[in-house]
Amino acid sequence: MTTIPLTNEAAAAADAIVCPACGGTNDGDAVFCANPACGKALGKYRYVAEEVRGRSAWHERVADRVVAFVGRSHFILVHVFWFLVWVAVNTGIIALAHPFDAYPFGLLGLLLGVEAILLTGFLLISQNRERQQEALQAEIEYEINVRMSRRIDEIERLVRGIAERLDERR
Ligand SMILES: [Zn+2]
Repeated sequence: MTTIPLTNEAAAAADAIVCPACGGTNDGDAVFCANPACGKALGKYRYVAEEVRGRSAWHERVADRVVAFVGRSHFILVHVFWFLVWVAVNTGIIALAHPFDAYPFGLLGLLLGVEAILLTGFLLISQNRERQQEALQAEIEYEINVRMSRRIDEIERLVRGIAERLDERR
């Protein structure tokens, strides 16, 4: 008996995947849920991004956002603008506001010190998270490798069995 291999389309039509999270129906070869609000990974194995999202605490999410902002050019521009306005107001170049932090701008220094401490904290939180994510990634990869190698051993045993039977028939 010969089985005709299914094309991708036929396989997809044959067994659609029902998303366990939102209950939506996906193609048989879908990797992620097609529902944009859901996007769940549909594989047999755990998915790092999903696990990390599920585990993250509020301060970790804040840290990620802060670090993402700090890494952009906007961060520099905002600071340059801030310093220019601060110096302009407090040296009396702009007469719109009353000077409140005369040279050498002690209040500005204090605020920047506080900002530096907070940013360092957020950076460390974000780095810790990255390290945890890498550890989880390694764990999942190891799990997949072990399962795969066991599956391959099993297939090897089966193939050997088939070969032995074919030898017996000769
Ligand atoms: Zn879904």
